[in-house]
Amino acid sequence: MKKITILGSTGSIGCSALDIIEKNPEHFKVAALSAGGNIVRLKEQIEKFKPRIVALAHKDSALELRGSLWAKSRVKIVYGIEGIQEAASYHAADMVISAISGSAGLLPTLAAIEAGKDIALANKETMVLAGNVVTQMAVKNRVNIIPVDSEHSAIFQCLAGTKRENIQRIILTASGGPFLNRSRNELRNVTVKQTLHHPRWSMGKKITIDSASMMNKGLEIIEAKWLFNVAYEAIDVLVHPQSIVHSMVEFIDGAVLAQMGIPDMKIPIAYALTYPERIVNDLRKLDLVKSGHLEFYKPDIKKFPCLRIAIDAGIAGGTAPAVMNAADEIAVHAFMQKKIRFIDLPIVIEKVLNLHQVIGNPALEDILQADRWARMQTEKIIERMIS
Ligand code: NDP
Repeated sequence: MKKITILGSTGSIGCSALDIIEKNPEHFKVAALSAGGNIVRLKEQIEKFKPRIVALAHKDSALELRGSLWAKSRVKIVYGIEGIQEAASYHAADMVISAISGSAGLLPTLAAIEAGKDIALANKETMVLAGNVVTQMAVKNRVNIIPVDSEHSAIFQCLAGTKRENIQRIILTASGGPFLNRSRNELRNVTVKQTLHHPRWSMGKKITIDSASMMNKGLEIIEAKWLFNVAYEAIDVLVHPQSIVHSMVEFIDGAVLAQMGIPDMKIPIAYALTYPERIVNDLRKLDLVKSGHLEFYKPDIKKFPCLRIAIDAGIAGGTAPAVMNAADEIAVHAFMQKKIRFIDLPIVIEKVLNLHQVIGNPALEDILQADRWARMQTEKIIERMIS
């Protein structure tokens, strides 16, 4: 029986994880949960899974939740970043699923690592912002970081039992998102609704928009660099619209291993929870005859400049990825509020990066400071653009 804490339990990954836990009561039990502000969903989760502690981002939501619970409910309710860190490091948990969206996931994930909890990592921003700090802290605390992101889970599975020296190249696949077949010109007028309509995966809003701009693939390249300790030159991206090959590894002898399956996050989430074992599920199975052709293309970096921007930020290193990530979070938010256009996303992000003086080998405080600075600069740039 593994006791699981879920950070971001009300989100897309969090709900899928709880579904796996519910269907496998002999394997898993919930220890703690955390959410942003969705108290309606969190209340349902408390009643069903009976966590010992739950955390919310803000005090008012925590008070409202307390008021709505049965008076004898024994769940401890905490709030704010300290509260989420308390839930993240709750002593009874064996593993923590890091599934808060955005850079808000970093400090809670670090708290879980410091408390010695193994991490099932969905929050790629943790690695993008602070890959160096996170990997060092994981080694120090003897913590395993198991990827949840489908591409990284695929690579992790392909690498099982292999020495690092045998890896030639990692090939991340990308669905290409909803605008794969649109021209650059057509991207000028795409709407938020069209951008949120992903052809293959059902995910939270932020990652869905990042998938459409291919920023998500850029973030994944940086995540892969830190998770698998490979150089950027050894990471390639192939567009694969069918989303059946979740990623591949090429070895020094030319052999290529690919991991395949239907596009459903419950498979990599469950694998992260059970690794190195596997459990059965009730999902549809892959039928390669029905799937038809599997296609692979080089990504169009001119049409999707966010991919190039992310690779450049990754190579620049230091605080550059944190700045890029913060600028992207603010710009995506502005796009969802219809303040800027889809094609403005890379323009805004690049402007912020151009203003930034990169700090090499940054400490955690430098990273957090760069994140705050980038948010302010991005707001200013967007204000200027729309005024
Ligand atoms: P969602 O937007 O669906 O969920 C985000 C979760 O984080 C919610 O529980 C939300 O709470 C919580 N949250 C948001 N902001 C804060 C905050 N400031 N403090 C505390 N909690 C907060 O996102 P996803 O589940 O799609 O993604 C989560 C992470 O996993 C992201 O990093 C994403 O890149 C990664 N990922 C997701 C995949 C997917 O298929 N969805 C695939 C691979 C990676 P509330 O709703 O209560 O406000």
